[in-house]
Amino acid sequence: MKKTLVMLLCAFCGALLVSCGRAAESDTENVTKPAVEITETTISSETTTTSVTAVTTAEVTTTAPQTTPRPLTTTKHTEHIFVEWNTVKEPDCVNKGSKERECLMCGFKETQELPLKEHTFGDWTVTRAASCTESGIKTRKCSVCGKTEKAGIDAVGHKFGDWQTTKAATYETTGERVRKCGVCGYSQSEVIPVKVLTDADKQAMAREVAQEIADSIEGETDLERVSQAAAAVAWYSSQCNYTMEGRDYATAYGVFIKGEYSCAGSTRALGLVLECMGYKWQHANENQYTHQWCIVTMDGQEGWADGQIGMAGYGKHFAAE
Ligand SMILES: [Zn+2]
Ligand SMILES: [Zn+2]
Ligand SMILES: [Zn+2]
Repeated sequence: MKKTLVMLLCAFCGALLVSCGRAAESDTENVTKPAVEITETTISSETTTTSVTAVTTAEVTTTAPQTTPRPLTTTKHTEHIFVEWNTVKEPDCVNKGSKERECLMCGFKETQELPLKEHTFGDWTVTRAASCTESGIKTRKCSVCGKTEKAGIDAVGHKFGDWQTTKAATYETTGERVRKCGVCGYSQSEVIPVKVLTDADKQAMAREVAQEIADSIEGETDLERVSQAAAAVAWYSSQCNYTMEGRDYATAYGVFIKGEYSCAGSTRALGLVLECMGYKWQHANENQYTHQWCIVTMDGQEGWADGQIGMAGYGKHFAAE
């Protein structure tokens, strides 16, 4: 081994460093790259090499130009000075990758693993379509490693048409309605609850009976006609249970339809018949806890008509004060 005097100029601070060639060579063996950059010398020192400019007296070593800083083996350092990480191998979904960085001063290399990447799945494709009630399956595939992934597709549910009434509900009985899925034909039925009577419904039902009674009346005088009406209402009342409970006992509906009556109910039932016959009437003792009847003008005279006892007369009712 020849002894060579080497002059080195530090790339960082510009200080002149002197070393013997032997030292430089022996250090070189410890790193993967040549420890000392010695460019071909034309002493003029016009070199633009960033790292090191070297001049030899006896020998000139030629190396290929380097674009990255090369380590200086002769410089003592307590901690490595690293350049940025450099990816050596990109990871994918199957293989991990790696990166390394190198010490500027001594060429020491540090390597780290790069973790696995996510799979690169394509779009879902339907493998088995979902039906109204059964779930389906969809699949997608990784374009890198070919791994397939499956997932369920929720059942879509029936697509029902409108309800069709197959049996109408009445005030006494429930009805039924049906609807059908337009996709699979499944049909669903449902009970229609018993109709609920409103006060208007009840009044309309009572008026129908009152009208029938009015239409059946015959007679020469108002007194005869009103007496027949009172008798008809009294007949209905006699078929009823006398009560003062519930919501209907004081109505015409109670007397004609429900079978409940009181003197208030009988009076309103007779009043409704009188209305259907074209008479105006007044409710004597309305809402009072005493006997009640209709006050009505007959044959040009004031009179009374009583739906509970089924009578009518001119003048005042015998129970009037
Ligand atoms: Zn180092
Ligand atoms: Zn993959
Ligand atoms: Zn369906």
